Amino acid sequence: MGSVAVSESKTMLTLPGDAVRQILWRFAGRFDLQMLVQSARSVARGTVARLVAAGERNTHEWTPGKAGMMEAFDRAGVTAAFMEPEEGGFIAGPKNLALALAAFELAWVDGGAATASMASFLALSPIHERGTHDQVTRYKTLAAPPQPGEDRRPWRGAFALTEPIPYVGVDTGMLSGKVRVAEWKDGQEPWLQVEKRGRFITNIAFANFVTAAVGSDDPRIKGTCVVILEEGDEGSFDRGTPTKKLVHQLSSTGDPIFSLKVPASRIVGGYTVKDGVIVPNYNHGEIIEAVFRRTRVPVGLMTSAKLLSAVEPVIRYQRERFRGAEGSKPGSVRYEQGIQQREDALHRLVDVWAAGEAATSLGFAAARLFDELDPLEKVKTALLKERGVQGGRAELKALKESEQRAVELLSLREDDPRRAELEADFLVDYVLKDAEANVICPATKLWNTGHGANMMREAVSLMGGYGITEDCPGFLANKWMDAQLEATYEGPEAVQRRQLTVTMISEVFLAQFRAWTAQMRGIASLRPGTGACTLASAMQMWHWTLNHLQKATDPDGGKLYHGQRQGVTFALADALCWLLASRYQILDVLELEAHGGDDAVAAEGLAGIVQFLSDLCHTQAAQAAGETSRICAELVFGYNRHPAWADEAHQGCFLTSELEEYEETMPGITAMAVDVLAADGSHPLKAGPCADCAGSSEFLRLQSKLTTCLSGARLAKDRAADTVSKVMIPEALDYPA
Ligand SMILES: Cc1cc2nc3c(=O)[nH]c(=O)nc-3n(C[C@H](O)[C@H](O)[C@H](O)COP(=O)(O)OP(=O)(O)OC[C@H]3O[C@@H](n4cnc5c(N)ncnc54)[C@H](O)[C@@H]3O)c2cc1C
Repeated sequence: MGSVAVSESKTMLTLPGDAVRQILWRFAGRFDLQMLVQSARSVARGTVARLVAAGERNTHEWTPGKAGMMEAFDRAGVTAAFMEPEEGGFIAGPKNLALALAAFELAWVDGGAATASMASFLALSPIHERGTHDQVTRYKTLAAPPQPGEDRRPWRGAFALTEPIPYVGVDTGMLSGKVRVAEWKDGQEPWLQVEKRGRFITNIAFANFVTAAVGSDDPRIKGTCVVILEEGDEGSFDRGTPTKKLVHQLSSTGDPIFSLKVPASRIVGGYTVKDGVIVPNYNHGEIIEAVFRRTRVPVGLMTSAKLLSAVEPVIRYQRERFRGAEGSKPGSVRYEQGIQQREDALHRLVDVWAAGEAATSLGFAAARLFDELDPLEKVKTALLKERGVQGGRAELKALKESEQRAVELLSLREDDPRRAELEADFLVDYVLKDAEANVICPATKLWNTGHGANMMREAVSLMGGYGITEDCPGFLANKWMDAQLEATYEGPEAVQRRQLTVTMISEVFLAQFRAWTAQMRGIASLRPGTGACTLASAMQMWHWTLNHLQKATDPDGGKLYHGQRQGVTFALADALCWLLASRYQILDVLELEAHGGDDAVAAEGLAGIVQFLSDLCHTQAAQAAGETSRICAELVFGYNRHPAWADEAHQGCFLTSELEEYEETMPGITAMAVDVLAADGSHPLKAGPCADCAGSSEFLRLQSKLTTCLSGARLAKDRAADTVSKVMIPEALDYPA
């Protein structure tokens, strides 16, 4: 156990604290991020918790209390977390992990509060990602909170993509928002007339500016773009009526209508004029892709925070359940342990906890990866520009060679001399990280929110009737409903699945996936208790199934792995998410084991915490394996037509008379035969002769191996449950009910 003393207790005594979390989620060396976590937490468990407890979620209106919350974010430094130091911020460099941590802390108490703080960043993101220098400076400076002594209210933004039905929703290509040339005097900047109606637009009650997606309604403007609208612009800036949400009521949402005249310099990223036509430098699709790629990660972490936040209230409820009853005297098992005497209650809580750990590990891994990728992306763009390559297809083509080199690198042995050259290749590093990010961002959004919402229901159910009341500590019922919004906005599950079905089959990703599978076996040989071997077997089955389905057809000859066949592709994407979450969970625990001893606070009781978190990994890996096995088996077998008694296939069956004859030379064969036809043609009562399918023996071999790999998983769960029944928790929750 690394630096941990062997004699130390292997039982976790208290809930994992900040020192442990900082190592698991890799910000132990980042004092700026630790400060941000503390200040976001103080607003969450102070101002926000008090608003929720006071019933502010019961109104759709934007109230002074909710507005006060935004100011509390400003004071706590949450608003400034998006800005560069020169723009009024305090964190230098990429901020994906910073924003993810802030969202996690706020959502620990209330998802709407987290969304309210993130929505302004979402509005600024198109400008941050693709805006011109002037645009970035203007809007980020205006949106930065005032410095001490400065008398100014920070600007808040809203991001308007979604439109009234039947336009933009999942399908972002169907835009009804329009832009026309309003005025264009010779040699001067053109003025644009923007008509945009939004649906479900966050922050709209108070936004000072809006980044809106629109398409051209004028031959003098090419394609689509994102434009910046300001509340003072000429025309109508109608905020519309508030949406009657059942969730996230601490954020503002409504259906605005904009009809505004703005200068063409408001086109995000600028434009050029070619043959009398305004050509935006970026279309709305390019901008939105760059934005959502990053902003979807904190959304996934918002749901995982809810799962982990449920642990302490549930433990307290379970333990105290029978106190005060006659016959439940202090010191008795019933008094001390309450519902925790019962295995099922403990096991279900272990499942919630394990899912929360896995989802959080996946989400923070994605956030960190984007922090690494952000600077690489800039260098990549500059490098390719030097070579005369700029964006779109030309860029994809130019990166093809680097992709081949990346795949080659992953196939080389540790001692291969060519490794050094490929490892030093900047573009190889870029394509590897890019391929991983293209998968783990949608995986975080999809799995954390979708599976997270299901697991929040479990958490609520553990509190019995209390769980579905406003009085429930930890606001669990609110969180259950809120999780569903997190699964929906910024692109619902279908959008994430659609993206995964493309990115997860990239050659570079699959080469990494194979390397990760081998890596898990390696980990398993050193740390068998993590479930890494189970996971590796499940990863192998997923990969085998993908290969099989890419070649296989249905009985009519139709391809199975095909964009239109969501029944196949979406299901495989779902299975992959389980595997990825489990992988990052295991890697985090190894990190804690390796570095926990470096920190005096984390080192205390480290062996017990590592043991418990490993048991959660094992529990989660077993669930991931089960899901993968179920999904893959259904896909591999489910598209074969079942043989019928009436068709040719039954010719492979024995007749009773034949069996009697064979029995003389092969005693015992009767016991082995399953599909036996009687002389009159009657057959056993079942769908038809048992099915077989091409390649099934290989699949069944993998499946049978995977099943035996589950050995020990329930023992790990029992051990985790035992710890949950003994772990110390604080006297009371640190925020009000
Ligand atoms: C509280 C709240 C705040 C929001 N904030 C904002 C905001 O600030 N800015 C903004 O622009 N938008 C915002 N939205 C809008 C949100 O992003 C959309 O609601 C979301 O993208 C889904 O679009 P839709 O509602 O039109 O669903 P639909 O597109 O109608 O989807 C309905 C269902 O059909 C499925 N589906 C749709 N298309 C496909 C397909 N091709 N394949 C398979 N299944 C499919 C979906 O997965 C979903 O299950 C917000 C929404 C809410 C509720």
